[in-house]
Amino acid sequence: MEDNDFSFQIQERIPDALGRAGTIHTPNGTISTPAFMVVGTYGEVKFLSSKQFHEIGAEGMISNGFHLSKIADEIEQSGGLAKYSAYNCPTITDSGGFQVMSLGSGLGKVVSMDKRDIAREQHKTKSKNRLARVSEDGVYFKKNEDSEEQLFTPEYSMEFQHKIGADIIMAFDELTSIGDNRQYNEQALDRTYRWGIRCLNHHKKLTEERVGKNYQALYGVLQGAHYQDLREKAAKDLGAMDFDGYGLGGAFEKEQLPDILLWCNRILPENKPRHLLGLSKPDDIFVGVENGCDTFDCVAPTREARHGKIYTVDGDINIRNAKFKNDPNPLSEGCQCPTCKSNYTREEIRKLLRDTNGTKTEKQALNDKKIAIELMTVHNVYFIVNLTKEIRQSIIENNFHNFRDKWLKRYYG
Ligand SMILES: [Zn+2]
Repeated sequence: MEDNDFSFQIQERIPDALGRAGTIHTPNGTISTPAFMVVGTYGEVKFLSSKQFHEIGAEGMISNGFHLSKIADEIEQSGGLAKYSAYNCPTITDSGGFQVMSLGSGLGKVVSMDKRDIAREQHKTKSKNRLARVSEDGVYFKKNEDSEEQLFTPEYSMEFQHKIGADIIMAFDELTSIGDNRQYNEQALDRTYRWGIRCLNHHKKLTEERVGKNYQALYGVLQGAHYQDLREKAAKDLGAMDFDGYGLGGAFEKEQLPDILLWCNRILPENKPRHLLGLSKPDDIFVGVENGCDTFDCVAPTREARHGKIYTVDGDINIRNAKFKNDPNPLSEGCQCPTCKSNYTREEIRKLLRDTNGTKTEKQALNDKKIAIELMTVHNVYFIVNLTKEIRQSIIENNFHNFRDKWLKRYYG
C-alpha cells in the first residue's frame, strides 16, 4: 500500500476468469466491489434523499465533472464533494471530456449499442455542426453557435477535479464516436496517452501543493474502440503508468463488450481497481464483473424510473401499462428496498403516477407523480446496487457462474 488514503485489496477471485471481489478504501469510506456507483450528475441524485441513499446500501456516487466545474470553488469551500453532496460517501468525478466532446460529434454516453443506435450515431457524426474540435492542446469548444470558443485542457480538468475533491478522479481522454474510422481512433488513442501523461504530471504537482486535504486517486482512461491491438496498446501504455486505477470507456457494439474488457483487463495491473463507465444493464454488469471490472455507473436506473420503467427479477416492466391496473404484487418479487418493504403494490404506484381521467386536481396529480417517481427511483437504484452485492457474495462463495446463469435466465425469460 502506498503512503496515501487510497488502496484496493482483492478478497476472492472467479476461477478461470478475471473477475474478483475486493475492497476499495477511500478517505470517505470503503466500497465493497463489485459495486454500482449511483449517478448524481450535480452532486446529488434526483428523488433520492441522503437517508434513502444509505438505506438502499449505496456505497458511492459518481458526478459530472463538467457540470460541477462551474461551482468547483463552492464545493471546495464546503470541504469537498462528499460533504457537499450530503451523502457523505466515496465519490468519483469524470474528467468533463465527454460533455465537451459531445458538442463536436454525435457521441452517445451509452457504451454498448445495438445496430440501430450505431446507425443513428454515424448519421449524427456526419451531419452535426461541430461545436468542438480536438487539438493537441485540448478541446476547443463553443456552448452554441454564437458563443465564444473556449479551450478545455487536461490540466484544467485536473484543476477543477482537485477543487471538487472527489476520492477518485478521471484523466482527460478523447472518447471517439462509433462513426469514427480506425485511423482517427489511432490518432485519438495516441492523444489520450499524451493527455494521460499531462494529467498525471499535473495531478502530482497539485497533490504536492495541497495541504490538509485528502489524497485523491487518479484513474487513467482506456479507449481504442473495438480494435484489439489499440485496446491492448492502451492497456500496456497506461498500465505501466502511475495511475491509481483505470476507467474503461468507449463506444462499441454490445456483443463486443466481453472481448474488449478481456483485452484490456488481462494486461492492466491486477492490483488496481477498474471502473466500467456508463453501463448498468444486468447482462452487461455480469459480463463486466466476470471480465475484471470492479465498479459501474449509469444514469439508467434513475432516468428509467422517471419514465415508469421498473426493474424486476422477471425482467423490466412499464408500470403505466394497463395490465398493472389491478396488480396487487410488489414492484419486484421478494424485493427488500424501502418502497417494497413499505408494501407498495404495482397497482398503487401506477395510480400515483397517472392522472386518472381528471379525478385529481392538477396539484394533486403533480404531487402524486413526484411521490411515485421517488418510490420507483428508490426501487430501481436498490435493484442494481443489490444485484452487484449479490454478485459479490456469489464470488466470495465461489458460486458466480451458477448465480449468473440462474439470475439471467429468470430476468431475460
Ligand atoms: Zn423494491
